[in-house]
Amino acid sequence: MHQAIALRRAITRFWVLSFALASLAVATSSSATAQTPLELNYHLRLSRPATHLVEIEIHAAHVASPAIDFVLPAWSPGRYAIYDFAKNVQEFQAQGASGQPVEWAQPDKQTWRVDARNCGGTVQVHYRVFANDLNGSFSQFDTTHANLNGASIYMYIDGHKQDPLALSVDDLPDLKPAWKIISGFSTATDQKSFSIPSYDRLIDTPLEICGECSLNEFRERDKTFRVAIHNYTSEASEGSAGRASANAALVSRFTNELKKVVQSEMAMMPLPDFDTYTFIFHFAPDISAGDGMEHLNSTQVIMVGSLSENTVRDAVETAAHEFFHVWNVKRLRPAALGPFDYTRENYTPSLWFAEGVTSYYAYLNLLRSGIWNLREFLRHMADEVRNLEIEPGRALMSAESSSFHAWFYDRAPQMQETNFANATISYYNKGALLGMFLDLEIRSRTGGEKSLDDVLQSLYHKFYEAPAAGTYGPGRGYEEKDLLDAVNAVAGSDFTSFFERYVRGTEPLPYAQTLALLGLELKVRAAPDATPSIGVSAQLEDRGLRILSVLPGGAAERAGLSRDDLLINVDELSLATEPLSDRLKMYPPGAEVPFTVERHLKQERINVTLDPPFKDQYSIEEIAGATADQKNLRNGWLGSAK
Ligand SMILES: [Zn+2]
Ligand SMILES: [Zn+2]
Repeated sequence: MHQAIALRRAITRFWVLSFALASLAVATSSSATAQTPLELNYHLRLSRPATHLVEIEIHAAHVASPAIDFVLPAWSPGRYAIYDFAKNVQEFQAQGASGQPVEWAQPDKQTWRVDARNCGGTVQVHYRVFANDLNGSFSQFDTTHANLNGASIYMYIDGHKQDPLALSVDDLPDLKPAWKIISGFSTATDQKSFSIPSYDRLIDTPLEICGECSLNEFRERDKTFRVAIHNYTSEASEGSAGRASANAALVSRFTNELKKVVQSEMAMMPLPDFDTYTFIFHFAPDISAGDGMEHLNSTQVIMVGSLSENTVRDAVETAAHEFFHVWNVKRLRPAALGPFDYTRENYTPSLWFAEGVTSYYAYLNLLRSGIWNLREFLRHMADEVRNLEIEPGRALMSAESSSFHAWFYDRAPQMQETNFANATISYYNKGALLGMFLDLEIRSRTGGEKSLDDVLQSLYHKFYEAPAAGTYGPGRGYEEKDLLDAVNAVAGSDFTSFFERYVRGTEPLPYAQTLALLGLELKVRAAPDATPSIGVSAQLEDRGLRILSVLPGGAAERAGLSRDDLLINVDELSLATEPLSDRLKMYPPGAEVPFTVERHLKQERINVTLDPPFKDQYSIEEIAGATADQKNLRNGWLGSAK
């Protein structure tokens, strides 16, 4: 009984402390804007790569408030997913000016509230972060490199994101060859101290620190472009001089193609406000997924596989997208995306424009720069059409809604079953098509005088080159309605109905009508060897095919087949030993075919009436006998490309 009372007292005292700190912080936040800047020094220590633990120390001087909150973001701009980077923080400690320990408590999972009443004006915190993901959002520290994306490792101090800070890299592993530091801040690879204007810039500038990286440069329009390549299959490990020179030739061609992309995109848009831009490429054979992540004056592009003709081609295409983000999203940005609230979701209906239109301009600039020919460009646009048209979700979800709900599926961890396969669309995909349709419609309505290029340029002037709306950076963000206004102003024509039907709405895109303006048409066919279909996506298992999704209205759904069913046999023939399409080859569309299905460990027979072969071959082709007007418009769009 006494013990219990003592315990209750101890608990009460803990809560008194927490409560006191909680009320102190209210004062901190409410007076945040009036606070004088802190003197901030961030120290990065990378000493034990095999532990994957990055050590961070933050010194904050001139602390006048009774408590300060250290916060680690829940997400990182560019990837619209709540990752809760705080889950990898360990060993948090806080000290005052003379190294005395000071109290701290966590009011929530990503905030460390430090009692600054007896800190002597300086708070120093120290913590470690576990980092072992090579990815544009997370960080990785191992014996090959440190690839650091700031939001996942650096805390900010609430109310002080706008304060200038200094970053120093204090410890590097003692490995050969010596590690080089490469980032959008660096002027030389041995530079270890950096002055950074704000926390936003700190985390918008990834660091790649490694021994095996190559670094090349080119100049374009009085700006320097640095190309860092970390290729996991090193020349030394391949052990052949011939192979090394083949790689050198590949890197040289790669750099040359990047230069063409940069030239083309810089020719289209106003010159950006940086002196140096840094491409950081990884070619890594042992990762499951690649990535591309845009930043203010740098980008991370991560490819699955070693440096090769194929991976280099894909890397150039990804770079064309990421580099266009220099303008679209990093500078010209939706109002919700800068300044950022790093603690929670930042919603915007405009990712179809920020991401999808960026994809469209990547394609167009790959064509304009001569890296793609006309056939490749039209094939990519036709692929985008197919990718939308095979999505059942296109009738349910608009481009704006897809953008708004990005937080559900932009590489977000899924802890429950979802119907995304049938109920969502991609804002990249629909946005790229909306970019093309807006471009063609503007060209048509202005007799080829104006295009979507003019809309991008005018938005950039109007919003990014406007007086700064706050401490975040130059310019101000746009709202979704500003996009319609900009299109209307450029085209001198009202696009309200276009936005209502295709951007806010889910009406089918007017393929035939719009492509005909340029003497083009969309062709949709089944593959020549296509067999009747049942309308499922499925995955091969030991005993048969596991259904992953069922096409609404298709043969499988009509017959009562369900997701997770295991298709074992068709007409007594195993589906584990031969593909479903081969098994269905012998039947005509409309045939009723018996399947042996296992559901919740019980087997049953279900008859399925087969659908005709699925039409998934899309192409955009020239119409014979196009008129002069159609040809003029087409040439204005595609230039002289063949
Ligand atoms: Zn690396
Ligand atoms: Zn993007």
